[in-house]
Amino acid sequence: MASAKEGPRGMFLDGQELTVTGREHRTLLDPATNRPIATVPTGTKEDARAAVESAAKAFGASGWAAPDGQKRVQVLGRIAQALAERWEEFARLETLNQGKPLRESKGDVLYAARTLEYYAGLADKIQGETIPVPGDRLDYTLREPLGVTVHIAPWNYPLQLAVRSVAPALAAGNAVVLKPASWTPLTALSFARLATECGLPPGLLNVVLGSGSEVGEALVTDRRVASVSFTGSPGVGRRIGELAASRVVPVTLELGGKGPNIVFSDADLERAARGVSFGIFLNAGQMCWAGSRLLVQEEVKERFLSRVKELALKLKLGPGLEPGVEMGPLVTREHRAVVEGYVTRGVEEGAVPLVGGPGAALSPGLEAGNFLAPTIFDAVTPGMTIAREEIFGPVLCAMSFRTPEEALALANDSDYGLLAGVWTRDLSVAHRMARGLEAGMVSVNEYPVTFPQTPFGGFKQSGLGFEQGSRALEFYTRQKNVNVNFAPARPPRT
Ligand code: NAP
Ligand code: MG
Repeated sequence: MASAKEGPRGMFLDGQELTVTGREHRTLLDPATNRPIATVPTGTKEDARAAVESAAKAFGASGWAAPDGQKRVQVLGRIAQALAERWEEFARLETLNQGKPLRESKGDVLYAARTLEYYAGLADKIQGETIPVPGDRLDYTLREPLGVTVHIAPWNYPLQLAVRSVAPALAAGNAVVLKPASWTPLTALSFARLATECGLPPGLLNVVLGSGSEVGEALVTDRRVASVSFTGSPGVGRRIGELAASRVVPVTLELGGKGPNIVFSDADLERAARGVSFGIFLNAGQMCWAGSRLLVQEEVKERFLSRVKELALKLKLGPGLEPGVEMGPLVTREHRAVVEGYVTRGVEEGAVPLVGGPGAALSPGLEAGNFLAPTIFDAVTPGMTIAREEIFGPVLCAMSFRTPEEALALANDSDYGLLAGVWTRDLSVAHRMARGLEAGMVSVNEYPVTFPQTPFGGFKQSGLGFEQGSRALEFYTRQKNVNVNFAPARPPRT
């Protein structure tokens, strides 16, 4: 079980965690108290190179990429099982480092385990096709792993989002270099150790620490790296997209969001209110797929908002490790300051806080942590900064609409398009909205939700490509076409 303090941790290279001395270190803080919990070395370009080297060697020598995939099925299956069994240790560590309530961390760990199990089941089912061509020829395709794949992860779901792309990459036979966010590297390090204990050959999963600008860019620009999977902010995503394009390597970008949660007057309003509250206050709103824009049909708006307000006021804030806590602190002081800036801006632009707002009081005892009261803004107009930019905190912006067409226009008036929610009992409205929404994912009468077997990705500035589902394996493999001429003489080409 994780202690309240983790002590020094190191990078994970070539199957070992290396605690180094005489190097610059970063002190990680518990977001609930801002007390130190662990120190980790600050990686450099040289560490990035060493991690790629370790992966490249393992890719060539370990036999992991064998076409039949049986070993991958077995090892990934063992990792999935071990992670599920040891959920408590991982969940405690996630909460200690990231701040979210323990029951959320438990969900994240079990989701990661289920992702591994799902891709373990696919690892021996990666196959090509035979293609009919003229004459005595056999034409077929092979799907091969790419080689060394790089994965750059954010701090909001540190383990779950790392595993989301690492699992299919390993299942397809690649060797992985993972760079977690600088604030939240602990569960990724423990996961690499666990994977090695479960029989993952050394060098197939390396975890390199250090800043995005130095270590992240060194990974993306390394000529031995065959693909980049990035989850993070749109600004950094664009930069990574440019770097990957200049090397002509494939990239997936999972970026931000400004999810509309659309409530029609015929919906089960109690369920919808709970869903809307969950969709913005889960993980203290630090979610790409947060339902941060509430669009509610005019005739029920007042009633609906007063119920969501009640739910927000009842939320129990506190350290994520304390029993019964429903919302934890934000990840760092710096991030809290950014979110507070948006709350102040909202009031300046004329929005009205129904709950929370600038300087909203917190229960005593929470001053030392990065806690922020949940905020619900009414009287929001579509042009306001808080209605357009991703806040990445517990801030809900309410607007109203009259017709489904108006709801669609409002919902689609955004640079983002990740997850959109629709609450209605009318099937026709639900399906018309699903078709009209400019979002990579639409969820009806539930928010937010995803599964390892369903694609996760965004339209517009929310990203490029997708993660999850069986077709994610296509990203982590390359296709080769083979033609075999077995005719006694040259057969016709047409
Ligand atoms: P971020 O600042 O973009 O960082 C994400 C990762 O990129 C971190 O590991 C970061 O390292 C690294 N990085 C930073 N600059 C880099 C560079 N120049 N080259 C290479 N790597 C670099 O994002 P964040 O603040 O951690 O996460 C919040 C954002 O992620 C939000 O916009 C959110 O919507 C998005 N997100 C999207 C999804 C999705 O699936 N669509 C899921 C979760 C989060 P450092 O930590 O060292 O800076
Ligand atoms: Mg950042």
